[in-house]
Amino acid sequence: MNCEQASLCIKPFIEGRIEEDQLEGFLQHVEGCKSCYEELDIMYIVSEGLQGLQSDTCASFDFTGMLAGRISQGWHYLQIAKRRSAALFLTQLLAYAALVFASLRFFGFL
Ligand SMILES: [Zn+2]
Repeated sequence: MNCEQASLCIKPFIEGRIEEDQLEGFLQHVEGCKSCYEELDIMYIVSEGLQGLQSDTCASFDFTGMLAGRISQGWHYLQIAKRRSAALFLTQLLAYAALVFASLRFFGFL
């Protein structure tokens, strides 16, 4: 992912609606690109600050810590998604093997 693509992902990431297939590239990019991380940081502070004003609850002003937490959550989400995907693949593989086995038995090859 380049800076332009990462920049387009900032708003969806903050709003929690970034596409799963873009999340990993986005996280890798912002962790390695100082200028995009700063842009994300500023947008995050503005977004969270506005929400805090609107809801009248100032639970925390540690926006940098909150952003680090969001990035960490993103990596955790990806880990779970990858495990889910691997488990699904294994299940499909077993189902296919069972189907082949059943077919071979049905047609008398086993
Ligand atoms: Zn960048």
